[in-house]
Amino acid sequence: MSDTSPLRVWYVAGQRLCNFDCPYCVSVGDWSKSRRTNWKTPQDLEDFRTIVRWIGTRPHEVSVRLGSLGEPFASPDFLEEAGWLTRRSNVKFVELLSNASLLERRLPRMADSANLGKLSLWLTYHDGEIDLDRFFRNARVAQDDFGCFTVVNVLLFPDNGALVESFVERAREYGLRYNVDLGYDPELPSDSLEAPAPEHAVPILGTTDVLRHVEHLGGDTELTKVALTALRAPRGLPCSAGHDHIFIGIDGEVYPCSRYHVLEHQRIGNVLDPDFQLERRERRWSPCAAEHSCCNKEDFLNLSSARRLRPDDVPSLGWTDA
Ligand code: SF4
Ligand code: SF4
Repeated sequence: MSDTSPLRVWYVAGQRLCNFDCPYCVSVGDWSKSRRTNWKTPQDLEDFRTIVRWIGTRPHEVSVRLGSLGEPFASPDFLEEAGWLTRRSNVKFVELLSNASLLERRLPRMADSANLGKLSLWLTYHDGEIDLDRFFRNARVAQDDFGCFTVVNVLLFPDNGALVESFVERAREYGLRYNVDLGYDPELPSDSLEAPAPEHAVPILGTTDVLRHVEHLGGDTELTKVALTALRAPRGLPCSAGHDHIFIGIDGEVYPCSRYHVLEHQRIGNVLDPDFQLERRERRWSPCAAEHSCCNKEDFLNLSSARRLRPDDVPSLGWTDA
C-alpha cells in the first residue's frame, strides 16, 4: 500500500517505574512494572529511543499511543522522547497513559520542550492510590492550563459500582471527558487461540449483565458491545489492524495488533532490525484470526463495526465520542 497514508501506532515501551501499587495491575511477568527500576537495562532505554526515532521519522502522518509498563510521568527519559515526538511534523498527536499523580509537577517542565497542544492524556483513576479530588484537579490542570486532550478513565470491577457511579458524576462536574473500562484479571494467561477465557479474564462478566450495568453507570454501551464481541468472538470479523494500525512491543516486534503479538501471528518485523521495512497490508479490511480475547481498545476499535465510534479527528486511540 501507499507509504504515505496515515498510520496509527500503539507502542508499549519498556519504561517500568511506577509510584503506585494497584493489585490488579496488568504489567506483570516479563512486562512488569517496578517500584525501583525505570529501565531494566541501559539497552532498554536505547531501544526505546531508537523506536521513538523510527516513529518520528516516518514519511507519513502517524498518530501515536505511547504506552509503557509503568508511570510515564515518573520517567524524565520517557517524557523527553515523548516531547520530541510532539514536535515532529509527521506526528499528529502523542497519547500517554498515566495515573495522573505527577502531572502538576511534570507538565510545567515538559512545556519547555514539548508541544503540549499535541499531547493527549488517558488518565486512569486507581482507588486507594490517589485521592479522587487530587486526581480530578490534576486532570483539569492538564486540560485547562496546558491544553492537553484529556480523558479520565475508571475501571469497572464486580464490587466497585458505587465508586464508578460517583467517578462519572464527578467527571461531569469537573467538565472532563470520561470513560468506563472493564477491569481485567492480570493473572490469567492469554496466549492460547482456543481456551475460552473471557469470563475469567474480565471478572465482571461472570457476575452481572454488563451492558445494563454500564448503561446505569453512565458508560458507553455501544463501546461495551464492541468490547464484548472482541473479547468473546472476533474471529472472521473485518478489521483494519495491519493496514492503518500497528502494534510495537517492548522488544521492537511489530504486529498488526497486540493480540496478534501475543499469538505471534502475522509478524511484520522488528523496528530494531536495521533492515526493517514496514510492509502494511494493501486491503483495508481483513478477517480477524483470533478466537477471542481481543481485549484492548487500541486494538478492537480497528474492527469495522467500531468504525463509527471513533471520529478520525480525535487525538486518541482509545477515546470514543461518548
Ligand atoms: S498505576 Fe498503572 S502501572 Fe502503576 S501499578 Fe497502577 S495499574 Fe500498574
Ligand atoms: S479484531 Fe482484534 S485480534 Fe482481531 S485482528 Fe483486529 S485487533 Fe487484532
